[in-house]
Amino acid sequence: MQKGKIGVTTENIFPVIKKFLYSDHEIFLRELVSNAVDATQKIRTLAGFGEYKGDLGTLNVTVTVDKEAGTLTVSDHGIGMDADDIDKYINQIAFSGAEDFLAKYKDTAASIIGHFGLGFYSAFMVADKVVIDSLSYRDGAKAVRWECDGSPEYEMGEGSRTERGTDIILYIDKDSLEFLDQQRVDMLLRKYCRFLPVPVISGKEREWKDGKWIDTDRDLVVNDTEPQWTRKPADLTDADYLDFYHQLYPGKEDPLFWIHLNVDFPFHLTGILYFPKINNNFDINRNRIQLYCNQVFVTDSVEGVVPEFMQLLQGVIDSPDIPLNVSRSYLQSDSAVKKISGYITKKVAQRLDDMFKADRADFEKKWDDIRIFIVYGMLTDEKFCDAAMNFMLLRDTDGKYFTLNEYKALVEPSQTDAEGKVVYLYTTDPTAQYKYIKAANERGYNVIVLDGQLDNHFVGLLEHKLEGVQLVRVDSDVTDNLIRKSDRPVADLTPSGRAILTRLFDVPTRKVEKASFVVQFEALAPTADPVVLTQNEYMRRMKEMAALQPGMNFYGELPDSYTLVVNTANPLVESIAKKSAEALDSTVKPYLDAIDAGNAKAEEARKAAGTAELSPEARQTVDKAEEEVSDARKAMDKAIDDYAPKAPEAAQLVDLALLANGLLRGEALSSFIARSYDMMK
Ligand code: ADP
Repeated sequence: MQKGKIGVTTENIFPVIKKFLYSDHEIFLRELVSNAVDATQKIRTLAGFGEYKGDLGTLNVTVTVDKEAGTLTVSDHGIGMDADDIDKYINQIAFSGAEDFLAKYKDTAASIIGHFGLGFYSAFMVADKVVIDSLSYRDGAKAVRWECDGSPEYEMGEGSRTERGTDIILYIDKDSLEFLDQQRVDMLLRKYCRFLPVPVISGKEREWKDGKWIDTDRDLVVNDTEPQWTRKPADLTDADYLDFYHQLYPGKEDPLFWIHLNVDFPFHLTGILYFPKINNNFDINRNRIQLYCNQVFVTDSVEGVVPEFMQLLQGVIDSPDIPLNVSRSYLQSDSAVKKISGYITKKVAQRLDDMFKADRADFEKKWDDIRIFIVYGMLTDEKFCDAAMNFMLLRDTDGKYFTLNEYKALVEPSQTDAEGKVVYLYTTDPTAQYKYIKAANERGYNVIVLDGQLDNHFVGLLEHKLEGVQLVRVDSDVTDNLIRKSDRPVADLTPSGRAILTRLFDVPTRKVEKASFVVQFEALAPTADPVVLTQNEYMRRMKEMAALQPGMNFYGELPDSYTLVVNTANPLVESIAKKSAEALDSTVKPYLDAIDAGNAKAEEARKAAGTAELSPEARQTVDKAEEEVSDARKAMDKAIDDYAPKAPEAAQLVDLALLANGLLRGEALSSFIARSYDMMK
């Protein structure tokens, strides 16, 4: 019986293993089963090269739970180990210079474990004793038994195996009894070993007989040894891909399409990425891309490996270049991982481009569902954005799709403004903004729909990418002004007419909360609406951004600011103007004169003082003049307000404009209804 100390480094490594991997201790099973699979594949390879001439036998890996004995055993029929192998691979822990390495990377110990193949020792996370019983494939090899209780001391002696291969027997410790539960073990095997390339057997298949489940004599194979991603795309049908998808994500709707990844240089990577139909956020979080390393499940938290926006995709990625078992920060800084991420981006963009070119009609059909990936990708990944400019589509309110180039060609002739900018009109809500869209269409303008969750940001991106293009929401101004072909049409109003109408139409300022209004007169087309409410594009965007980003409260708290455009060329407005001028002109004029006189007096006194401070006498003159102005204004407003009930049409037109924008609520709404009845009398 040989006794000895496991290579010095383990004194450091055992506590590291226990401490750092504690939260993930279930991975011991993955490590042991993958070792068994490796050993199995090695014997197959040796046989293939003619270096092993014996009988291969059935090449399975078996996981056995023995509750009574308190053991979990992983057995294989692989190459096995002799005493020298165990010394070399287990006792010396397979690497030299480990001490230096440990000293250097103390803090990232978790990453060492995968990196330097300490997989076997992870058994000590769940076992207080581990036994290796092994018989090497070599001619004349002797069976060997190795035993260790978790301290750096081990014992090695003669083993009992008569068949080539290895048993790893774990005496499960009292804190880890869950690993003696067959169901728990089966679940772990399904999670980590589901696609391993060698059949993994865990107990027997069961069947329902005489009112209970009984074991049959058929072995229960837990894995699919040839998952679709390892096969050649040419050998797979659409049904195969869909089958595999449903195997990965049971109960999900069919995906929209998929991409089979296969690359040998400069790194190895295979996989299948599916574009799912996204119905809600829950889907996104639940069904994620799974990462494999040579068919061994690594993780389904792919942050850092897959570009952020592709985390909306599903499927598997398998690469031996993705380090197993490492911490997240380690993964993200790994250069192989960075290359992988870049490659995937390129591949996905290429595939989308191919699809677009091969069958545009089909691409358009899928567009609304895949748009969110593409917009997200364009916003977060510069390279993807550049590639996507070729197949990015814009959909107009008639449901027609255009590439960016096509769209520019379409609208350039009619939607270029006086400064040479091409104005793209868009709607964020075709139903709510219906009136504006219709008015724009009547003008010969096209309107695109940008109603997605990310479109707020996307508008900015488009303006940034498309030179000489400006995006304007269709309700941000009256149609005539959305695309300024020349100067604004000026309303032809007398001073008293303007004063009267301003007061008559300035209804909402007094009634609508958290919004500010400015009344503006413009002589639009006589057929255009009498009153149009518009919201400044810039302010609205600022407020929308503020809502999404903390730290921009300033904009968020500003009231919504609207412009109430009164169309003085509209016959209804013309008639109000005429009627009110007849009734009020003679009353209002003297007030206006008084206001002008007061203002002139104050101005004169200020001018006389020049840049010097006003003398007490001059101060008095100014104050008095300002008071006169204010009194005259108040009296004038009162006179107009007294008259207002005789011209209820003005308030009615304003309320209709508010109503069209969903701003008429509460008391304002009920007084609108009451006024409507009155006007019908
Ligand atoms: P890794 O598998 O990453 O190299 P491990 O600590 O898991 O690291 O294993 C160390 C070595 O021990 C393996 O490389 C292999 O040579 C040997 N080994 C482990 N398990 C087996 C097994 N079941 N059969 C044959 N050799 C094994």
